[in-house]
Amino acid sequence: MEAEIITIGTELLLGELVDTNTRYIARALREIGLDLYRTSTVGDNIDRIAEEVQASMQRADAVITTGGLGPTIDDPTREGIAKACGVETVFVPALWKQIEERFSGFGSVPTENNRRQAFIPAGSIPIENPVGTAPGFIVETDRSVVISLPGVPAEMQHLLVNDVIPYLKQRLGLTSIIKSRIVRTAGIGESMLDQIIEDLEKLHNPTVGLSAHPGRVDIRITAKAKTTQEADKMISGVEATLEERIGRAIYGKDEQTLESAVVDLLKNKGMHLTLLEAGTDGALAASFSEFHEIIASEQTLSETESQEVLSAALQKEMQKASTQAGLLLAMQPSQEGSTALIQVILPGNEHTERKSYEAHFVNMKARAVSYALHWLRRLLL
Ligand code: ATP
Ligand code: MG
Repeated sequence: MEAEIITIGTELLLGELVDTNTRYIARALREIGLDLYRTSTVGDNIDRIAEEVQASMQRADAVITTGGLGPTIDDPTREGIAKACGVETVFVPALWKQIEERFSGFGSVPTENNRRQAFIPAGSIPIENPVGTAPGFIVETDRSVVISLPGVPAEMQHLLVNDVIPYLKQRLGLTSIIKSRIVRTAGIGESMLDQIIEDLEKLHNPTVGLSAHPGRVDIRITAKAKTTQEADKMISGVEATLEERIGRAIYGKDEQTLESAVVDLLKNKGMHLTLLEAGTDGALAASFSEFHEIIASEQTLSETESQEVLSAALQKEMQKASTQAGLLLAMQPSQEGSTALIQVILPGNEHTERKSYEAHFVNMKARAVSYALHWLRRLLL
């Protein structure tokens, strides 16, 4: 089953208004397992609304629109949808009564303009709006259903959650659920990862997708199933494959961060950390800002110092603070862009590496911090 969303409003096209309605509806549809392959935005114009709605109705089982249901002439959604469905708009006395009641509720009377809001496409099912004046409506056709909601987010959300979602579940017989898990990795570049899991990225259910952040790549696994248990099982299958192929790069799941993964390992081992950085503007220390308690000491040196000096300074600082774990990150400009010197010192275990970053890379410091944390984590394991 497939849905499309059409947001209506010239303000959206002028860039004056950020479309938050699509995002809200998209998430609600995902939760009930209704696929969303396309969304669009159209201005306050009857013909273009009609065209867009008609095209969506050809493709999708459900079309949801927001906006353009107000009382003024420039709110043409009712007419646009009526045109798309080949019907007129008709006056619904019961809707008018509800509108009058809402107005008298706040000690006022509707204007003649508000009568426009009591018109809906002939044959459609009205959706009463208890949190605003503009009622929504549903037009059912053989092929599809068009659901029209007001643009004001609070009103749209109220009608969506209370009326539309239950309606869609019933009409489209939706019983499946969608579940996602994020597998978080560091230490492997996005294109490398892409090659390693290319086959998984071609799966249809569960689906597997990548999203890259500086020095880290998230893998999202999304499964659609009849029950949560079934979805979990499908997700675990992919997780196991990932574990086999790139286990060492996986530092956490869902909400876990690389920093918190490292801090957990240090805490388990009862260790504190000494940080030494140069040429990073304090990016390494800043990444631990939420975990001050784990840092025994931190020092910043000039990026012009040699590797020998930096390395010796780290060891000296560790002795002074009597810490067992030390992490050094020093960044220096180079011909290609920048090089990062990374050193991890743990009891009986050490890793030193120089990594170069080409100048066109953005977020070089954040990348280097991720890489340094990745190595600290690996050695702690
Ligand atoms: P009203 O009865 O209040 O006129 P309406 O259905 O006519 O409601 P619009 O006039 O299109 O809705 O929009 C009313 C307000 O709702 C906009 O000014 C804007 O603040 C908000 N809004 C509309 N569409 C969106 C959207 N897609 N995302 C976020 N906010 C929106
Ligand atoms: Mg309006």
